[in-house]
Amino acid sequence: MNRRFALMIDPVVADEVRDDYSDTFTTVDAAAPALSVGELSTQRGDGVFESIGVVDGHAQEVVPHLERLAHSARLCDLPVPNAHQWHQAIDSAAEQCGEGEAVIKLILSRGVEHGPTPTAWVTAAPAADFRAVRENGIRVVTLDRGYDLGAAERAPWLLLGAKTLSYAVNMAALREAHRRGADDAIFLSSDGFVLEAPTASLILRFGNRFVTPAPNGGILHGTTQLSMYDHLADRGFEVGYDRIPASDLARADAAWLVSSVRLAAPITAIDDVDVAVDHTLTAELNAYLLSPRD
Ligand code: PLP
Repeated sequence: MNRRFALMIDPVVADEVRDDYSDTFTTVDAAAPALSVGELSTQRGDGVFESIGVVDGHAQEVVPHLERLAHSARLCDLPVPNAHQWHQAIDSAAEQCGEGEAVIKLILSRGVEHGPTPTAWVTAAPAADFRAVRENGIRVVTLDRGYDLGAAERAPWLLLGAKTLSYAVNMAALREAHRRGADDAIFLSSDGFVLEAPTASLILRFGNRFVTPAPNGGILHGTTQLSMYDHLADRGFEVGYDRIPASDLARADAAWLVSSVRLAAPITAIDDVDVAVDHTLTAELNAYLLSPRD
């Protein structure tokens, strides 16, 4: 896929059922002007989003992404998106993606200041080539996220479990990781527990058990992690959610950062301590993640 484009969506209310929503979509070239200067997503990062992996024209795990978009919208007091309408917009964009890997982003913004409705659109673009990363792995450093595990419940206005457009902190963490000679980061809570990466979930392996930090409001529940857990459980492994102290990182037999577009990136070192990589299992996991998944 070479083309980049967007479908602007005229959002209809969540429970309005139609057979065909295509008259609510307008296709625009990615370079064409499409947003008002009063748009609150650009002024304040006030909105929510999703990034969906597309493989050979098939958008992966659309329903879990739409469910998380709706969850994020609720946390942000945004109108809940109409799942049928968004699903059709995603299908229409995915059909145009062609062969290879692409990424579809869903964006639901508070809209234009004083405007009547939210602004909604999906974008489609080629994905970066992550084949080497999936094979060779990534070095990560741990970074303090600055809040404790109780913060999400104590201060819901921090929107910690929502995938909001305010990713400046996440991007700053990646730059800090690069400054420290690493490729990526693992956030730690201020009380010393493992959270997630700036754009991915963390999965650790201890023997035949795979574990990820419990998404108890403070972190996102990853769609890739959920899908990978289905696969691992089918393969007979034990999978679970835990409160994971940072000291457990050094004990892991293997570790991955997993996300919708990069898929499973094996971790080769955490804070300069080497982590073993199971190349065979990682290749199998990525083959599964690249297969059509709904
Ligand atoms: N955590 C954060 C902060 C993310 O930004 C992402 C993905 O963008 C994830 C976890 C992984 O989510 P998913 O597997 O649905 O891509």
